[in-house]
Amino acid sequence: MTGKLNLNLNLGAGVEPMLESGIDSAARPDVENVIILGSGPAGWAGAIYTARANLRPLLITGNEIGGQIATTTEVENYPGFPDGVTGPELSERMQAQAERFGATVELDFVTAVDVNGPPFTVETANGKRYRANALIITTGASPRKLGVPGEDRLIGRGVSYCATCDGFFFRNRQLVVVGGGDSSLQESLFLTKFASKVTIVHRRDQLRAGPALQRRADTNPKIEYIWNTVVTNVSGENKVEAVTLKNVQTGEERLFPTDGVFVYIGHLPNNAPFAGKLAMDEHGYLITDKLMRTSVPGIFAAGEIQDSRFRQVATSTGQGVAAAMEVEKYLAEMEDHAYLQRQEPALDRATA
Ligand code: NAP
Repeated sequence: MTGKLNLNLNLGAGVEPMLESGIDSAARPDVENVIILGSGPAGWAGAIYTARANLRPLLITGNEIGGQIATTTEVENYPGFPDGVTGPELSERMQAQAERFGATVELDFVTAVDVNGPPFTVETANGKRYRANALIITTGASPRKLGVPGEDRLIGRGVSYCATCDGFFFRNRQLVVVGGGDSSLQESLFLTKFASKVTIVHRRDQLRAGPALQRRADTNPKIEYIWNTVVTNVSGENKVEAVTLKNVQTGEERLFPTDGVFVYIGHLPNNAPFAGKLAMDEHGYLITDKLMRTSVPGIFAAGEIQDSRFRQVATSTGQGVAAAMEVEKYLAEMEDHAYLQRQEPALDRATA
């Protein structure tokens, strides 16, 4: 027996009552074929492909449905959208496509994973426990914080990591954006739609961002730069009133009045449930091979949780697709193996 997978390897056993979250678990198998952890582009791509392979994937969204792309203003480089598309719209379209082919989407957050399997066990913030013969981890990465006094206290009161979400509140205000990468410039350009002035504070005197974005930022009259400078403090009583800027060359510090601080200084992989269980590199990204396999057979990873280099929507979706195709193959082989094991006693009897 090759190729074709018999669906839901343990369908029917140990059904639970209807879950509060909306999943009718009576209609779910005791052991899922595959659970996808995370709802960024890699997760949706994995869900679309495993759903189309009739694997009935369960996707657990994480705290923010859509991942980072859902907080991105404009995506201009995803193939097929010559006029660009907003991050939230792209994410919603991917979700609709996954659901159309039968993926089940659960709004929940994975807190723990038992990698001793298959089946693997996944526990969630809502107190649910799921089991699955394969996992695709697409938990992505989260914005890196400045880690300076005042930052945490003033989140939502002027400190933000999402221009799409919060830019609207800063009409005719002066803003600081920290970072010199693509995100910093792209979101600064978006913020100029609202703010009267956007000052980009960068720790070096050269941007990391690509030339197209640099050109647009350089010609925008609302954007200014402060080079060789870091933010060392965020101050304000109930909302951001100023940041302390330190010139890294001279060591000189000064107070810089601002109504808000948008932080775009890179990301950290969301790896907490896998710490000590799956192999990671020195920065905490999961290590995968070309087939998107992690260090544990049956557990695959795609997108920014395992890719600190490309981090594009297009590369993440590609990795999600590859992981899904490998999951299909892995489950087929697993079932072939189970089939052969079932045949062996009969063969032994026949030849005895
Ligand atoms: P990034 O490319 O890693 O840039 C992070 C920036 O923050 C860098 O300029 C870095 O400075 C600075 N930085 C890092 N840690 C800092 C700290 N502790 N204090 C102050 N500054 C700090 O991150 P990103 O801009 O979020 O981009 C991530 C990926 O997404 C990249 O591959 C990017 O190309 C991609 N992206 C693409 C687009 C697009 O339209 N094509 C849009 C957004 C993102 P240094 O330069 O000195 O290292």
